[in-house]
Amino acid sequence: MIEIMPNHRAERIRKLLADLIAFDTVSDRSNLPLIAYIEKYLASFGITGRRILDDSGQKASLWATIGPEDRPGMVLSGHTDVVPVAGQSWTSDPFALIERDGRLYGRGTTDMKGFVAVCLAMVPEISRAKLAMPIHLAFSYDEEVGCIGVRPLLRELSRATTKPLACFVGEPTQMQVTIGHKGKHAVRARFRGLAAHSSLAPSGVNAVEYAAELISEIRRRATQLATQGPRDEMYDVAHTTLLTSIVQGGTALNIVPDHCAVEFEARGLGIDESKSVTDAIVAWATANLEPAMRKTEPNCGIDFEEILEYPALEMPPDHSLVTLAKQLAGRNSHAKVSFGTEAGLFVSISGIPAVVIGPGSIAQAHKPDEFVELSELLNCAGFIERLIAHCTNNRGLGDPPH
Ligand SMILES: [Zn+2]
Repeated sequence: MIEIMPNHRAERIRKLLADLIAFDTVSDRSNLPLIAYIEKYLASFGITGRRILDDSGQKASLWATIGPEDRPGMVLSGHTDVVPVAGQSWTSDPFALIERDGRLYGRGTTDMKGFVAVCLAMVPEISRAKLAMPIHLAFSYDEEVGCIGVRPLLRELSRATTKPLACFVGEPTQMQVTIGHKGKHAVRARFRGLAAHSSLAPSGVNAVEYAAELISEIRRRATQLATQGPRDEMYDVAHTTLLTSIVQGGTALNIVPDHCAVEFEARGLGIDESKSVTDAIVAWATANLEPAMRKTEPNCGIDFEEILEYPALEMPPDHSLVTLAKQLAGRNSHAKVSFGTEAGLFVSISGIPAVVIGPGSIAQAHKPDEFVELSELLNCAGFIERLIAHCTNNRGLGDPPH
């Protein structure tokens, strides 16, 4: 499957990206064929990757180290899964890469197989270099469904004797050095009411109406957070957001509804802000709604379950990794993004500082006719080229000791 790789860097990136795009790795599918492809490619440079399989055995992360294994190194991290194309109207086959006017189209080109392709395209150069500190590749699965797949790998890294020094997560930021992203906590509330003939409404417990009280409270708190909560003007939405997204309840017009499910989420500024916001709502509902529901029928109540969560990323702007990222990117500025990434988990699970920097724009992600500019991929290759030089001359994040 891997034919001779072209020598020219842009050709190599194109070829690798075309191959990666051709694997349908929508999150509910196995990513093992893609992982096997990468393993075979790495093996052609004498590099052995290690799989970390999920419980089903159908998906895996891949961890590979190039350079000295016994020294802390730098991680290049990306996810291999993509969002579905179902219901989207594409001009061309989403799983066949095509190029038009300097843009490469296909599902995952910007989010984020483009970054993975650039990492792989740079492997010949990485493996030729005399690295003083290693460069690690970390490719995960199930990122798009709640940053799930990277966690077992990060738990292993947290226990490793030689822990990596730092990580670059290559989500699309148009190669902006990104030092923060919001965290997220999503909760499902199932209201258990009591059915009754609607003509006898007072004898039932109306699950939909109690759910409506919760929704109103969520909205009240969202307004409060927007007007009085903490602010960070580096985000395009400068405050923590909170909303109800899904409501399902009731069976017939003439039945007092005995069930209603409500899903809501918070996206918070601080590392654990999202969870504290949703925890407070759960506590409010338990204290204020459940007792009222139980007055009529003691078995009524609300069951809460966590749907997904990931922490925010909050790197100090003066962290040596941020300074290094700016040097490698040739930029003086940094940014924060509202979308979630695995970077916050690198920090919170393994204590590995992380910065998000990758080719392409989030504006093209998850949409039909997703594309990435070839020039962005080449910028990213330049970043990795300078990272190789850094890892050849240094054993840490900063300059070598004088
Ligand atoms: Zn992504």
